[in-house]
Amino acid sequence: MTYALAPHAIPAIPVAGTDLRFPVHRIYCIGRNYADHAAEMGASVDRTQPLFFMKPADAIVIDDGDVPYPPATQDLHHEVEMVVALARGGRDIAVAHALEHVYAYGVGLDLTRRDLQANAKKQGHPWDTAKGFDASAPVSALRRVAEVGHPAAARLMLEVNGERRQEGNIAHMVFSVAEIIHELSKYYELESGDLIFTGTPAGVAALHRGDRFRAEVEGVAVLEGRII
Ligand code: MN
Repeated sequence: MTYALAPHAIPAIPVAGTDLRFPVHRIYCIGRNYADHAAEMGASVDRTQPLFFMKPADAIVIDDGDVPYPPATQDLHHEVEMVVALARGGRDIAVAHALEHVYAYGVGLDLTRRDLQANAKKQGHPWDTAKGFDASAPVSALRRVAEVGHPAAARLMLEVNGERRQEGNIAHMVFSVAEIIHELSKYYELESGDLIFTGTPAGVAALHRGDRFRAEVEGVAVLEGRII
C-alpha cells in the first residue's frame, strides 16, 4: 500500500523522565466540571448529563511552546485543566476499573474563542469553531501513573505574566476522572493514546499576544508557554 500523499506525523507529547513520546489519538474534553466555573458562565452543573466536546489531536502544543493567537476571535480565553492520558481503551468501562486505563497525567489549557462560543450557545450551534481550533490544546509533559499515582486532590493553578488567574482543586471536579472515563466510554470506544481534558475551575479570562502562562497541577505537572 502506498499513500497518495505523504501522511501527517502523529502528534506526540513528551513523557517526563523518559525519552518516550505519547502518541495522541483523540482529545476529549468535559465542560462544566467545576461548580464555580459553571456559575461564572451562567450555567449549572448537571450530574445526570456530562457535556463533552472534542479537539483535533494536532491541536496540541507541547511544553515551552509558542501558541499563535488564533484568527476569527477578539476574546481568546484560558481554561486550566488536568489532563488524563489513556494507556488502554474500551467501551462501557466500569467506574471501578476506569483508572486502570490511565497511563499518565498532565496539565493543559483548553483554549477557547469565548466570543464564538457565546454566539454558538445563543444560536444553538455546535462549539467546534470555539473549541477545536489550531493550537487550542497546549499540554505539559506527561507524568506516568508509576511516578505520580492517581492524584485525587491537588491544587490546579494558572498564572499569566506572573499573576494568579485561576486556582482550584481537582478534588472539586463534578465528575471524577474515573467517572469521566466511564461516561465517555458510553459514547465512544476509547483507545490508547486518547487524552481527556477534565474541566476548569473559576477565573477564566482573556489572553493576549505576548502573554506568558504557567499552568500547574501541584505535585503532578507544570506547563509553560507564550501567546505570540
Ligand atoms: Mn474547558
